[in-house]
Order: sequence, then C-alpha cells, then structure tokens
Amino acid sequence: MSMNTQGRPTRSEAPADPGGYQDTFSGSRGLDQAEPLLFERGSTDTTGVDLPEPKGTKTRLGGLDRTAEIGLPGLSEPETMRHYVRLSRKNYAIDLGLYPLGSCTMKHNPRLNEKVARMPGFADVHPLQPQATVQGAFELMGELAHWLMTLTGTPCVAMSPKAGAHGELCGMMAIRAALDTRGESGRRRVLVPESAHGTNPATAVQCGFTTDEIPADATGRVDMAALKDKLGDDIAGIMLTNPNTCGLFERDIIEIADLIHEAGGYFYCDGANFNAIVGRVRPGDLGIDAMHINLHKTFSTPHGGGGPGSGPTVFSDALAPFVPVPYVVKDGKGWKMVEHVADAEGEPFGRMTAFHGQMGMFTRALTYMMSHGSDGLRAASGDAVLNANYILARLKGAMSPAFEGVCMHEALFNDNFLKDTGVTTLDFAKAMIDEGYHPMTMYFPLVVHGAMLIEPTETESKDGLDRFCDVMLALTEAAKAGEADRFKAAPVHAPAKRLDETQAARNPVLRWTKD
Ligand SMILES: *Cc1c(COP(=O)(O)O)cnc(C)c1O
Repeated sequence: MSMNTQGRPTRSEAPADPGGYQDTFSGSRGLDQAEPLLFERGSTDTTGVDLPEPKGTKTRLGGLDRTAEIGLPGLSEPETMRHYVRLSRKNYAIDLGLYPLGSCTMKHNPRLNEKVARMPGFADVHPLQPQATVQGAFELMGELAHWLMTLTGTPCVAMSPKAGAHGELCGMMAIRAALDTRGESGRRRVLVPESAHGTNPATAVQCGFTTDEIPADATGRVDMAALKDKLGDDIAGIMLTNPNTCGLFERDIIEIADLIHEAGGYFYCDGANFNAIVGRVRPGDLGIDAMHINLHKTFSTPHGGGGPGSGPTVFSDALAPFVPVPYVVKDGKGWKMVEHVADAEGEPFGRMTAFHGQMGMFTRALTYMMSHGSDGLRAASGDAVLNANYILARLKGAMSPAFEGVCMHEALFNDNFLKDTGVTTLDFAKAMIDEGYHPMTMYFPLVVHGAMLIEPTETESKDGLDRFCDVMLALTEAAKAGEADRFKAAPVHAPAKRLDETQAARNPVLRWTKD
C-alpha cells in the first residue's frame, strides 16, 4: 500500500469505490453530501415564512401586479442555509489550500482586512447617504487613492471601476476621448502582444478599436522589430502587461513607451501583475498612460465569490483630464464627491458605474497597505518573486520551463516533458485535483504549447511550496512511467468528474425547468 509523506495510506489505495455516489442509498458520501438544485429541493407551493394577510391595503402597482406564481422555492431558513453550505463544501477556496492559478494572484486575504471591513462606519454606509455623514468613508477612499498614485508614480486615479477588465474599459475610453479631443478619431488601431490576457483585445474591440497582434520573440517578450513595423499614424496605442503573462519583465518597456508616444499613441498597461513589482518599480516612471490595478489580486481583497472585485485605474497627466466621475476631492470644508460631468474639472468621458465603487474592497485594500507599510509591500513583492523562482528551480529538471532564466512572480512550463506519455496538460491538471490542489492556469498564455502557469504568491510558506512541488514531481514521474490511465481517469475524488465543457459552452442550459 502506498503511503503519503505522513505515513498514512493514500486514498487511491482505499477499497475500490464502485460507482462514486451510487454506493450509498442517499447519494451522499459521508461529509460529502449530495445536493440537488435549490429548485429541486424546495417547492413553489410551500413557504419559508408565514406572514399574515395584509388588511385593507390598496395595490399601487398600476395594473402591473403579478398574475402568476413567482416560481421561487419556498424553503425555510435552515434549509436554505444548508443548501449553500453544502455547495460551498464542494468548492476549492484560498482558505483551503494553495491556489497556484497563474495571472490571478490568489493570495491569502488577511483576517485583519475582514475585521476592518466589517466596522459599521464602513460596512453600513449607503451610497445615497448625505455626504456630510460619510466623511470618514470618503477620507478612506482619498487615502487609498493616494497610496495607489504613490505606488504607481501617477497623478490621478479613477476609483470606480469594479474589476480589472472594467478598469481596462475605463482606460481605453479615456484614450478614445483624448484622441477625439485631439481631432484624431481616425486613430483606431491598438497593438496587443500575442501573450496578452483575453480581456485586452476584448476591451479594445468593445471600445470601437481594432487590434493588431505583436508576436513574442524567442525570450517570451515583445518582438521589438515587429513592434516597430506596426507603428503608424493610425495607432491609438498599445495594451501591454508588465510583467507579461509569461511571467517575464518586459525589459524594453521604456523604449516601447517612447516609440508609442512618438507615433502619437497612448500606453495602456495591464496592471494585473503588479504584485511582482510593487514597491520596486513605479509604472508611471516607465511611461505608462493608464493602468488598472486589481485590488483583488495585488492588494489581497477577495476574488469573485468572496465579494465583488475592484479595478481602480491610474492615469498619466496626458489622460488625467478625461477621468470619469464620480471621484472624491477635499476642499476647505471637507471631502466631497464630484458626481456630475458638469461639476468636474477637465472633460470626463462620462461615468463607469452607478455609484462610487466597492467600499468593502477599498477598506480591505487600504488595511492591507497600512498594515504592511511601504517596506512591507516591497518585501511582499520580493517574496512573491522568490516563491515563484523556488518552484521553477525545484521543478525545472523534471518539467520543461517555457523560457530560460529566472522568472518574476509566476513560473511557466510547456508540455514538452509530457511528450509521448499520452498525458496532456488537461489530464495533468485533473490529476492535481485528486491530490487536493487547484490546478495552475492551463493553455495560457497561448504563445506556449500546453502552457502551465504557476503563481504561488508570497503568502505560501516554504513548507507549503515543498509539499506542492513533491506532488508535481510525483505526478511527472507517474506520467513518464507510463501511468497515463491514472491521468485519464482523474479526477476520481472530486464531487464532479470530467464535465463536458464543449457541450456546456455550445449548448448552455441557463434556466431550470421542471423535468
Ligand atoms: C485578472 C486579469 C485581468 C482581468 O481582471 P478581472 O478583475 O478578472 O476583470 C486582466 N489581465 C490580466 C493579465 C489578468 O491576470
């Protein structure tokens, strides 16, 4: 029987499990409880609350009263609670283990952040409250804006974008407004390196630009000769990530900025990978004109399900006049929110959101910054890069690094080491799930065949990294030893096995219907 590193039998040697869920009467497997959809669990003719019939009320819906049942399952509070808790137990989470998803910076969210975000003065503010009653919240936003401008070396920031991709949209809309103001609405071509995140070209196109791809050179960086060939007087700008999605610093970034500016364009920098350089490089000094910052990556606020994201976007002097409302300013009488384009200085291109941005994210991010201090932030980016290089160093003999040399905050491998094993990048990722790890980012960036992009972040200990590397090495050895079947069958221990992703994408079932 094979043992794990603590000497306990591994689960794969446990008695054969005949058919997953079928081997119990309930469909549950111990603590891994089967859970149907909420609509299957509850019925529409029961109700979780008993309210007395209202007496003597007159409808004021002007004839728009609902005529049919609303169709929601009437579950009690404990039933509803259990449904969501059971589902949550099937999920992987950063609070459960290492989340090596490259380009996502899945770091630990310090509990101090949560404590501060729950303080009533921050948690309970309402976006329509009189401004005089939310001076502290405004000050927090102003202070966070100050930190973001200081860390990026830029004079201006829009706080309202609600995600990285939303920040990109904000940046590109400012670029379009600047070009239109210059009377150069014909400039509509945006250069996008081949290794860019999919949101970059999507944003450019959404904004009415066309995209033109720049290939990567043999070192995984922008091919400078190709870039120069593509410059012209129809250039609106470039969207570039630095460090790029190959986990490499674009060494020619200052020259790239100069070339783009000389050609009359603007430099949008995708700041999702800021965690690698915080406290070490100020993007403003490198010549960027706009850059979003993912508070939910670099500044430790939760991603997605843990709460909404936040993508404040910084701007250079050239684009500052076009920054959207709303924003906070301080004058002799205190803080105030500039809400309307007519009240703003400059020529805001408009408004990105209904309200002011994600207060909970602002509070967490500022807590993170202030508890670290500038020296702590600098140490964190150093540790993030060190951790990625530790993984690269431990795995590079067995797996195949995509590029030579050291990396920044993420280690990138291609699938050469799986050649002739019958195991693909996808199979390898599925086998990681059985080992209790969320897979790394797969098949991205597209410039690397069968890419595996691993970003540990600074919040993992050496011990945790070693356990992860041991598993990666053991899996690599199993693949090379001809155990393709193990990989093809994986995941065997996950609540859901291999899903038909093609069907799900082509033929999504978005609405539950009875039977
Ligand atoms: C995460 C990411 C984005 C998009 O950020 P969201 O907050 O998910 O919208 C853009 N570019 C890169 C390189 C990223 O890693």
